[in-house]
Amino acid sequence: MPDTEKDTTWYEDGLSFECTQCGNCCTGPPGFVWFDEDEGEAMAEHLGLTVEAFHKKYCKKKQGRWTLDEVSTRNGFDCVFLRRDPEGKSLCSIYPVRPTQCRTWPFWPENLKTTRHWARAAKSCPGMKNGGTFYPVEQVRVILGQNKD
Ligand code: SF4
Repeated sequence: MPDTEKDTTWYEDGLSFECTQCGNCCTGPPGFVWFDEDEGEAMAEHLGLTVEAFHKKYCKKKQGRWTLDEVSTRNGFDCVFLRRDPEGKSLCSIYPVRPTQCRTWPFWPENLKTTRHWARAAKSCPGMKNGGTFYPVEQVRVILGQNKD
């Protein structure tokens, strides 16, 4: 099948992905980490905060929705919850309750459109190129279905 916008079968044989903790997906140009009400409550509870205090301390409202704050660093605009250890590994400090947008990377609709889209995203995500965990197509579709945007 040609590599076109309509090609949704190119990953029928599954995909491999293993995060290398480079942190590239949690930094870069200014962006958005959207989350819904349930996810906001879970993050607030995890941090021992009320939802209101969580919003005030770690979030901003854009386009009528909540998104996590970013911090300007020498690496770019880091997610407010990104932590870098001395070995250069990047860790999410709220990993167990991270929003769906983060949990479903790199199986996002825009990355799964075609092999070209996948390859383009892989340029900044080494985890998409280094083999690792194999995701059968059924699992890719389940993760894809969790993406709310
Ligand atoms: S860019 Fe890819 S390899 Fe790097 S932290 Fe994000 S998911 Fe992991």
